[in-house]
Amino acid sequence: MIAPLLGVAGDYRARAQLIPEYRRDFVLGGNAKFTVVSKTTFTRFTYHVKRRSTYTRREMREDKCEDMFTVHVLTGADSTYTHLGFIVPEGAFKHTYRMRPDAPSMIAFAWVWKHLESDQFEFWHAGSCGRCGRELTDPESIQRGIGPICSEKG
Ligand SMILES: [Zn+2]
Repeated sequence: MIAPLLGVAGDYRARAQLIPEYRRDFVLGGNAKFTVVSKTTFTRFTYHVKRRSTYTRREMREDKCEDMFTVHVLTGADSTYTHLGFIVPEGAFKHTYRMRPDAPSMIAFAWVWKHLESDQFEFWHAGSCGRCGRELTDPESIQRGIGPICSEKG
């Protein structure tokens, strides 16, 4: 199925907008950078969701190195990201206690994560593969947010 494209044909930037069915795989790719824009308020936030790669000794000893993701929000013009929380193995988003749970970027992420297939916001990827972070160049990869090598890995 060819996904509906927004904007003019050949406008690659428009294809960087992920349709709802591609969003979950992209966010959980391991290295996903994306911007969400509310269609009602035009508020936007840029997030980076990474697969957690380091574990405590205790977790290793107890064999509890589960597939977990850390969630960060862009807070500075110089690519500074602030840790917001985690997506735990069961799939829920949990905020870190170092951040206020009522921070707008926190509320927005929690909502977006719960309503990932909603059309109430735009979902833009940053032009790099959601798994390995390499720049996406061919139109099909840009449309999915995952490069050809990474998408073969299933
Ligand atoms: Zn890749």
